[in-house]
Formats: sequence, C-alpha cells, structure tokens
Amino acid sequence: MKKSGSLFVFSGPSGVGKTTLCGAVIKHFPDMNYSISYTTRQPRKDEHDGVDYHFISKEEFIKGIDEGRWAEWAKVHGNYYGTSAEIIEKSLKEERDILLDIDVQGTRQILKRFPESIPIFIMPPSMDDLKGRLESRGTETEASIRERLLNAEEEIAQKGIYRHVVVNDSLKKTLDELVSIITAYRRKGDVRNR
Ligand code: ADP
Ligand code: 5GP
Repeated sequence: MKKSGSLFVFSGPSGVGKTTLCGAVIKHFPDMNYSISYTTRQPRKDEHDGVDYHFISKEEFIKGIDEGRWAEWAKVHGNYYGTSAEIIEKSLKEERDILLDIDVQGTRQILKRFPESIPIFIMPPSMDDLKGRLESRGTETEASIRERLLNAEEEIAQKGIYRHVVVNDSLKKTLDELVSIITAYRRKGDVRNR
C-alpha cells in the first residue's frame, strides 16, 4: 500500500540507452505509468504514434504552449518535445508512480514544478561507447550523430542537478541498479514504513 505516487525522471545523452531502460523498468514495475512525450520530430522507422511518442505538428505544439498543456517542454536537436501536464496530474492523483524520459532543460522545469520528483541521470561508459551506440542504432545521419554528441557534453556537464547518476555499462547491472533505487523510494512511500 503506497501512500502517494512518485515522479521519476530519467535523462542522459541521446543514445545512452534511456528508451531501452525505461522499457525494462516499466516491465519490472507494471503498475508504474510511463509518460509518452509529445514531439514535432519525425518518427523513426519502427516508431509508432502513441507508443514511442505522440507525433504532432509544430502548430499544435505551439498552441499547447499557449494553452499551458505542457508540464515542461524544450527544443532539443531542433525539434520540440513536451510532457503532458494532465498525465502527470492524473498519475499523482491516482497515487501511481510515473516515469519521464526527458532532457536536462525539461528536468529543471519539472524540479521547479514538482520539487519532490526523483531525477536520475544515465551516463555512457565513455563518449566512444555513446558514439558506437548511436551508430549501431542506425537511426541517425552523420550530422545528427555529431549534434547529439555535442549536446551530450552539455548535458553531462549539468549532471549535478540529478539525485542519482548511473552509468549504463552492462544493461543487466544498470537495470538492477535502477530497480534498487526506485524500490527504495517506493518503500519510503509505503505507509507501513512511515
Ligand atoms: P536513448 O533512448 O537514450 O536515445 P536507446 O535506448 O535508443 O537510447 O539505446 C541506443 C542504442 O544502444 C540501442 O541500439 C540500444 O539497443 C543500445 N543499448 C542500450 N543500452 C545498452 C548497453 N547497456 N550496452 C550496449 N548497448 C546498449
Ligand atoms: P530522441 O529524439 O532521441 O527520442 O530524444 C531526444 C532527446 O529528447 C532525449 O534527450 C530525450 O530525453 C528528450 N526528450 C524526449 N521527450 C521529451 C520531453 O517530453 N521533454 C523534454 N524536455 N525532452 C524530451
């Protein structure tokens, strides 16, 4: 019996493994909600609307900014990305945990709005590993990989704002580490432990 829902935020450079890890974390904690972001980016092959992202037009996104639809939003690699305020409010009201995969700019906004949230930064073992993962995923052009690596340096420089920093070297080890961090917060929220 949990007393209230917690808001977990994962950030880290593009290609570090956030999508992979979020999927595994949600599988481990099936009662946790995952916030599917809204973006103006084009879908990659194998990405599906409403599953990986809600893919929307720039006009709709900007209208959403004016209407206060986003709990946070940011422009990343030239595209807009945002989190629905409604999804977060709904999860917390239902006392369910929710997981966000957002960038550092977005995390700063979430921390202002939800100071109790738990931000976790995912680090690559090295920049060479990060480059290798972006290349092997096969979704980015050379220019896009360069842009993502530059942005990665900027994001890593701000990892101090996160409560936890986890290096994604072995996937299994990283998942175990994330599960134990999340489990500790879930226990804290347990009324029996108050
Ligand atoms: P992100 O969502 O952070 O951009 P992805 O989850 O798409 O990253 O992962 C990028 C690539 O790296 C994918 O091909 C994924 O299978 C791979 N990957 C993820 N975690 C690891 C890991 N621990 N070791 C090696 N490759 C990984
Ligand atoms: P990608 O295009 O590779 O899926 O994601 C690029 C970056 O956008 C990643 O750093 C990811 O965490 C971030 N991102 C995804 N969704 C959101 C969101 O809703 N808000 C913010 N601020 N960043 C997001």
